[in-house]
Amino acid sequence: MIHEQLERKIAEFLHAESAITYSSCWSANTGLFPVLAGAGDVVISDALNHASIIDGCRAIAKDAVRDIYRHADMADLARVLDKHADKPGKIIVTDGVFSMEGDLAPLPDIVRLAKSHNALVVVDDSHGVGVVGPSGRGTVEHYGLLERVDIHTGTLGKALGGGAGGYVAGPRVVIDSLIQRSRPHLFSNAVPPSVAAAALEAIRILEKEPERAGTLRAKAELFRKTLKSKGIAPLEGEGAIVPVVVGESVKSKAISQDLLAGGLLATSFSFPVVPEGAARIRFQVSQSHSEADLNWAAQLIADTFHKHGATGGHA
Ligand SMILES: *Cc1c(COP(=O)(O)O)cnc(C)c1O
Repeated sequence: MIHEQLERKIAEFLHAESAITYSSCWSANTGLFPVLAGAGDVVISDALNHASIIDGCRAIAKDAVRDIYRHADMADLARVLDKHADKPGKIIVTDGVFSMEGDLAPLPDIVRLAKSHNALVVVDDSHGVGVVGPSGRGTVEHYGLLERVDIHTGTLGKALGGGAGGYVAGPRVVIDSLIQRSRPHLFSNAVPPSVAAAALEAIRILEKEPERAGTLRAKAELFRKTLKSKGIAPLEGEGAIVPVVVGESVKSKAISQDLLAGGLLATSFSFPVVPEGAARIRFQVSQSHSEADLNWAAQLIADTFHKHGATGGHA
């Protein structure tokens, strides 16, 4: 069956024992934590984790606990781990590439703290797989931690191009429990077979042509540089997400609409998706963009920001 082939391929690709697919990574995350966190356990989440992780944490049993550490703040993570030293099970969860900032989680430190506090690490690498890492295996590969991270979640709908689908990969015992108990798996449709086949092929292509991830990163890097040369300062990062902070929500939305009218689709994000007063436009570089496309886009962006009197990331 195509789903089994896909699940075997995902597990192999991420150096995990086993994997399970869902209709989306949203479903994967909301289906994982209620199964993973047993009575008395604690799930510890980065403050800027994706909404689906937050909802997954909210869905854990009443006798399990959830807590938050400040974004990428390892002293704070250590503090929260110490606070829960008495809990039988501790689970740390983080985005690999943060979806609104574009920065990478400090995974080496997270893994080190997890080992010293006997905690599991879950990484949602929805924006990392296919983009980051020498062969596109994501943030975990970027840091050389493929064998050290316990559980991976991710989407098949971003760099892997299928438009839908998500997965959890990890130890067989975890995946077997999800098959038995994970509610979105039991009570909701699977990834459509056509999408599963497309995702399987996307991973095979990436395995055959691992340099694709590097080309994409080089394009994103070129785009960042070109923006900077035109006076626009995107948030720093290593993935294909290039956010530029505008500030005011109304202005950010107006710029995004003008960009669309000019032929460039880039979404504006404002409160509550990002903090109040930090509205931003998120550009996403794709493998199919040419150097000319990126230059054209950067010029349109600079002109549009200028027209709106926006500083383009500069304070
Ligand atoms: C996009 C995203 C998701 C949701 O993925 P879907 O497959 O669209 O549900 C989950 N986690 C992170 C970190 C994301 O960026």
